[in-house]
Amino acid sequence: MGDRKTDDGRGGVRAVADRRTVLILGGTADARALAARLADALPDARIVSSLAGRTSNPVLPRGETRIGGFGGAAGLATWLAAERVTAVVDATHPFAARISANAVTACGEADVPLLRLQRPGWTPEPGDDWRHVGSATAAAALLPEVGRRVFLTTGRMETEPYAHLDDLWFLLRSVEAPTGPVPRHCELLLARGPFDVADEIALMRRHEVDVIVTKDSGGTLTAAKLRAARALRIPVVMIDRPEVTADQQVAAVADAVEWTQRIVA
Ligand code: NAP
Repeated sequence: MGDRKTDDGRGGVRAVADRRTVLILGGTADARALAARLADALPDARIVSSLAGRTSNPVLPRGETRIGGFGGAAGLATWLAAERVTAVVDATHPFAARISANAVTACGEADVPLLRLQRPGWTPEPGDDWRHVGSATAAAALLPEVGRRVFLTTGRMETEPYAHLDDLWFLLRSVEAPTGPVPRHCELLLARGPFDVADEIALMRRHEVDVIVTKDSGGTLTAAKLRAARALRIPVVMIDRPEVTADQQVAAVADAVEWTQRIVA
């Protein structure tokens, strides 16, 4: 690998090793795990994780981090070219549909290989009572038929669709406080997973929860509420995932490591 010259920001020019750059679109536990695994597996590569900047105190991944939007697909394509990115792994949350669509467009334009790392969705087991809906709005429309005391676990950005439901009571759980409108009758619980089944059962009993709303995020970090719902025979309003368009997709971090090693080698 040769050296290239870069502006050092102080009016001088320095030579740096022309390292391969991998961009991880992050904001998930899997993305952090991938950054850590790639730092070990590809010590000569530059691993950059990108976060949207939604949380004020994010858990930072290993390696380099950049924070904030790129300015749409065009901005991301420009960034890929400017940073001479060799490969992109989109490890964003299954419901972060816009950035994933932007990654498909930008990588196509910039001719950079793209992999989608997405954990599988949850599947119901005997005893589960799941009501599938396609959006938060549909979940809100269904809720009055299903229960009166709602455990809403879909995150602080998505409380508005439920804000008009004055006849229902809500337990809102999120990592940070919601900034948008919230239902009139609600209690806020600030917490970050992983959660434990026994604690979830105790929480739901204490608040006499009779329905849960969740997105089909998949994974183990927040799955305890589903097992608790099964044990307590509580229905779950399950918001299904938006459609994904990526050509290459894996479910496990180890497979994403292998793919990246192949591209970068
Ligand atoms: P989104 O609706 O798909 O994206 C909205 C805009 O935010 C994008 O167009 C992009 O702005 C920017 N953005 C999103 N993810 C980014 C990233 N990793 N790096 C740089 N810019 C990013 O995304 P979202 O649903 O708001 O999710 C935002 C972040 O939170 C993601 O990193 C996601 O992994 C994480 N997250 C989301 C959820 C969820 O339920 N949606 C749950 C847990 C974690 P520009 O167009 O300006 O580039």
